[in-house]
Amino acid sequence: MDRKRHGLPNDDDGNGVDEFGSFDDSDDSNVSRSEEDVSWITWFCSLKGNEFFVEVDEDYIRDDFNLTGLTSQVPYYDYALDLILDVDPATDEILTEEQQEMIESAAEMLYGLIHARYVLTSRGMAAMRDKFCAADFGRCPRVFCYGFPVLPVGQSDIPCTNTVKVYCSKCEDIYYPKSSRHSSLDGAYFGTSFPHLFLQTYQDLVGSEPTQKYVPRIFGFKIHKPEKDRSISDGRDKGIDNQRKADEKDLARRKGAVGKTDETKDGGENSKAAL
Ligand SMILES: [Zn+2]
Repeated sequence: MDRKRHGLPNDDDGNGVDEFGSFDDSDDSNVSRSEEDVSWITWFCSLKGNEFFVEVDEDYIRDDFNLTGLTSQVPYYDYALDLILDVDPATDEILTEEQQEMIESAAEMLYGLIHARYVLTSRGMAAMRDKFCAADFGRCPRVFCYGFPVLPVGQSDIPCTNTVKVYCSKCEDIYYPKSSRHSSLDGAYFGTSFPHLFLQTYQDLVGSEPTQKYVPRIFGFKIHKPEKDRSISDGRDKGIDNQRKADEKDLARRKGAVGKTDETKDGGENSKAAL
């Protein structure tokens, strides 16, 4: 199978995905797909905005075992799979334009979900490694990470939940991708585990812990936060923990009927139902 690589040129300034003004000269198929020599997968991965994807091996897709459970997640599954693999439809059924569009978008979703699994395999990871080393996923925007390359990550493994984010192993945080063309890419097409499994596999690519932290100053002096403000900002940092503690407290209060607030009276029934 033709696995012609579509060039993802790097910027001179090393910003990777930021500017893709020009593609290489073999990329005439970028907009309109040339059926003769370009596979659907190659075409799809070369589209603008799809630069984070690697080309999944067709052999991987042809193995039903690798697609377990996807039938129920993707509409028009069989049609979508045929489209991805460039298989001519088995029937002579004539599809409406609307149906064809739905199959196209189903194929994108199916490819994305297959991709999320593929990048956890050794071949998939090796392909992602090449992109990481070329900083195709971009670089950490945090000043003291000094442009360390990032990896795509999902905040959920369920499609249509969150858009893709990028993870920096140096500061161990996630960010929005730099280029707006990746702002609608589904995070589930990369998954929540990918960068972490990747970095366990390629431990030499893990960024060392940042040695510098930004210190806010006014006229050169460090700012001493009043005790009250500090507790608020600490609370923000531990927002999830605090929320959980508050929820637990609330639950305990309701269970123990210790509550004497209006909340219990007014919202009690609904809240109980929700619990
Ligand atoms: Zn960073």
